[in-house]
Amino acid sequence: MDIILILIIIVIISSAYGILKVWFRQRKCPDDESLIEVISGLAKKNDPETQRIISHLGMCEKCQKKVKLFNEQN
Ligand SMILES: [Zn+2]
Repeated sequence: MDIILILIIIVIISSAYGILKVWFRQRKCPDDESLIEVISGLAKKNDPETQRIISHLGMCEKCQKKVKLFNEQN
């Protein structure tokens, strides 16, 4: 019984760690160059980094402002 409990705890901790890792990765702002590549459609759409930047844009006000500025300039 104890072993099952320990196993359950290990599974919970490792999945929580996986979720946190993804969350932290998504919160990290991309550099301006990559950001501009993505919004101007130059970046590869099936690239995991492109996907990351797109989902990052959905949650980061700082990068959303950068995109807005970039669109105003062009
Ligand atoms: Zn950002």
